Amino acid sequence: MNDPRQYVVIGGGLAGLAAAVWLAQAGKNVTLLERRGRLGGRTHAMKVDVVDDPPDNGQHVIASGYDHLFRYLTSIGTRQYVAFPERATLRWPDGRSATMSTKGFGALRTLSGAHPDASLLERARATVATLRLGWQCLHQPADLPDLTTEQWFNRIGMPAKAREALWDWLALGVAAEPVQQESAKVLADVMATGIRLGIKHRRPATIGYPTTDLDTLFITSALKVFARHGVEVKHRAVARRINIADGRVTGVALADGTTVPADAVVCAVPNSNINGLLDDLPEHAELYAAADKLGYTPIVSTNLYLDRPLGTTAEFEALIGGTGVIDEVFDRQRMTGRPTDQAWLYCLTTSGAYEQIHKTNEEIVAEQLDLLRRYYPAAKEAKVVQGHVVRMPKATFSQVVGTHALRPGQRTSVPTLVLAGDWTATDWSATMESAVQSAAKAVDLLLALPSVR
Ligand SMILES: Cc1cc2nc3c(=O)[nH]c(=O)nc-3n(C[C@H](O)[C@H](O)[C@H](O)COP(=O)(O)OP(=O)(O)OC[C@H]3O[C@@H](n4cnc5c(N)ncnc54)[C@H](O)[C@@H]3O)c2cc1C
Repeated sequence: MNDPRQYVVIGGGLAGLAAAVWLAQAGKNVTLLERRGRLGGRTHAMKVDVVDDPPDNGQHVIASGYDHLFRYLTSIGTRQYVAFPERATLRWPDGRSATMSTKGFGALRTLSGAHPDASLLERARATVATLRLGWQCLHQPADLPDLTTEQWFNRIGMPAKAREALWDWLALGVAAEPVQQESAKVLADVMATGIRLGIKHRRPATIGYPTTDLDTLFITSALKVFARHGVEVKHRAVARRINIADGRVTGVALADGTTVPADAVVCAVPNSNINGLLDDLPEHAELYAAADKLGYTPIVSTNLYLDRPLGTTAEFEALIGGTGVIDEVFDRQRMTGRPTDQAWLYCLTTSGAYEQIHKTNEEIVAEQLDLLRRYYPAAKEAKVVQGHVVRMPKATFSQVVGTHALRPGQRTSVPTLVLAGDWTATDWSATMESAVQSAAKAVDLLLALPSVR
């Protein structure tokens, strides 16, 4: 028998999209409310007219352990747009480079000492420290939540060259915070998840990337699923409050004064937008306080169009020592096969961009070009065709020391109201996988509710 209940999903980011897709595919009546004029939240393509080419709001990488994200991609039919390269490049100034293997035994070799100047002794020390680190990820010391990642690295004796060549960069990528303030617990938890999934899938976790823009990967095909299942998408629908009476959800009040009737709600907005929405929920003060304490970390992404190639040797390259200016260079030619008749496109990422975010676009592009000229001597004469800077002051919630255990679960005290979004509790850090995994958990809770006659 058809379920007559109305399921409302608030927020059209990845968490909301996945929840709406899975509820619709389970035969539910779904309405998706999104406050913006577009879907995708923090993952979407952008139009840059000058070069007629759609880059993304920020380059996104995908770990092979993103099981729920792959489930979402399979649900909408875009799983084929993710590739996992054999290797990436670690690059130093003056063009020096080392290969970072991302698969198999090569990856294990990389983990135990990728620095080209590391002596045999330093490599041996790095191997011992890496084993110790792996052990402590699975058997975590009780004080890990009180340590920064740097303090943890020092404690386990990770050699300076191993940190420089790999670990500091990896930790920054995992939590988008510099190792001096990042919580060691975040890296340990993600690595534990990676090890666990590696054992489950019988292959080590590796890093991949989309071979297309994020709209094609996440949104366009979801819209087809919505059309097929009659999901109503309301754009520019700003939810203000989830109405609850007698322990049940009754509707969602919007900023325009109207109310959307609801029997069940997935609230999939980020921690920065939660205030007010949960006022009717008995535990709202606790949830708002946690959302507030989780705070934010900034990421700056530059889509840099150059008149010539940089001379990369892999799809993505880590710039060692580039923290605060550029952490990673993504070569969109290699990744998507885009044509270069107008320009070469490189996506540059700066995580934990606390200083850079306050600079002007011109300052950011000039500083980054200067750095690129030092790291890629072949491109010394390169000219900028277009520099497109995307500032995300609230790119993700922050994962500094003291934020452990703040992330709320998806279940609330009202069974027909569930939470989702990357900031809710999952076994990943602030990632797309976390967003989609939270949606899977939220949908499971709603689908487990007793049916109505
Ligand atoms: C530059 C950048 C790079 C990143 N790189 C990576 C990466 O490499 N790998 C990775 O895994 N992750 C990465 N992330 C993180 C990833 O993008 C996010 O974790 C994920 O997209 C969050 O999805 P979400 O659905 O939880 O939230 P969001 O995408 O923020 O979606 C929430 C939606 O809710 C809407 N909304 C908010 N309030 C309301 C309201 N009151 N009413 C209606 N709608 C509302 C918003 O408009 C938004 O569309 C990156 C993020 C950024 C910004």
